[in-house]
Amino acid sequence: MDDQQHGFGSACIHGGHSADPRYAHLTPIYATSTYLFDTAQQGMDRFTGKEEGYIYARFGHPNATEAEQKIALLETLGLSGPDGQPLQAAALLHGSGMAALNTLFLAHLKAGDKILTHHSLYGGTDEVFRKILPGLGIEVLFADPEAPQSAAALLEQDPAIRLIYLETPTNPTLRCVDLQTWIGLGRQYGRLTAVDNTFATPYLQQPFRYGADFVFHSTTKYLNGHGTATGGILIGRDRDHMAQVVTKTYRLLGGGGSPFDAWLLSLGIKTLELRMERHCSNAMAVARFLEQQPEVGRVHYPGLAAHPDYQLAQQQMKMPGAMMSFELKGGLEAGKKFIDSLRLCVRAVSLGTCDTLVSHPASMTHYGVAKAEREAAGITDGLIRLSAGIENVEDIISDLEQALYQAKGER
Ligand SMILES: *Cc1c(COP(=O)(O)O)cnc(C)c1O
Repeated sequence: MDDQQHGFGSACIHGGHSADPRYAHLTPIYATSTYLFDTAQQGMDRFTGKEEGYIYARFGHPNATEAEQKIALLETLGLSGPDGQPLQAAALLHGSGMAALNTLFLAHLKAGDKILTHHSLYGGTDEVFRKILPGLGIEVLFADPEAPQSAAALLEQDPAIRLIYLETPTNPTLRCVDLQTWIGLGRQYGRLTAVDNTFATPYLQQPFRYGADFVFHSTTKYLNGHGTATGGILIGRDRDHMAQVVTKTYRLLGGGGSPFDAWLLSLGIKTLELRMERHCSNAMAVARFLEQQPEVGRVHYPGLAAHPDYQLAQQQMKMPGAMMSFELKGGLEAGKKFIDSLRLCVRAVSLGTCDTLVSHPASMTHYGVAKAEREAAGITDGLIRLSAGIENVEDIISDLEQALYQAKGER
């Protein structure tokens, strides 16, 4: 496929594919840990990069390459670089989102460096920032996402800030971070910028459009789409930097994923455009339904005009995504009863699968977090998080309706 020439759905299907020498339609699963050399010279040429080719599965394999090229294409589709040519990024696939993030951090930061970020990050990222990086002498500064002026002041004073790390929309209240402004600051002050694009997917939002240096996804979520494997991808706009600096860290940290998981990912991405359309239209209908229920307090969904980032989401996202959260007025007991009463929606953490997933942070992901700390992050006792699936929307709504009815008794 001649890249950049096609629509998003076609790029999802054909992007990154290369013809199989034995004429298999889909790329076979390369279940092998090592690769052969015809001669010692060839081995040397592969190690020095003089000849392209695989060496050892931790360094990369054909199933990873396919997913990497597909996702790099989707994140750059329709964008051009400073030279006016189509932007071409490079990507590295990992066995989980966290593995990809740790490659990003350890490839670019050393003791004395700092990261500038904002509140309400994904829990795992937040813990790496609070518990792992400080031990290595890397300090993390948390700014108010709505106050880029204070971030500008920090950048002005502190040359040790090397990376600006953003995530949008955020968990669990779906606040959005203004990509143009924040990435613009990174460019103005000459600092690296990275964006966690997991909740949005490249179909809804392309951070490279604003000049981000790195885009990250937990491919476990919408990109895989079916909940069959964990994975994470780090995409960089500077291909030479990715090939030289980042690849070295990637190989040595050993976070690459399995060929089967990469194969599942490439298969899942084929339907990304179709799924996102349905995920988003279902989410909008579910959010409108919830908004009208007397048992429900606030509904946090950036597609509702009442959400504080409604305008920003309209501006930087094609559609407002399919993640939402809502507050049950009945608090903790109503939350538990509601969750226990679901019959179609699945009780589970994670997101972005075909199935609607529902979780109750106060009794699950954030059970161990002190109530005051939880509430500061917007996680009230009655907060329910929902990842709208692609079932028939009437079925999702009627399940939520009967579970709300069951939970009413608990008020
Ligand atoms: C899941 C997730 C991650 C971490 O990815 P894993 O695949 O679980 O390691 C990072 N950021 C966001 C927004 C996520 O949802």
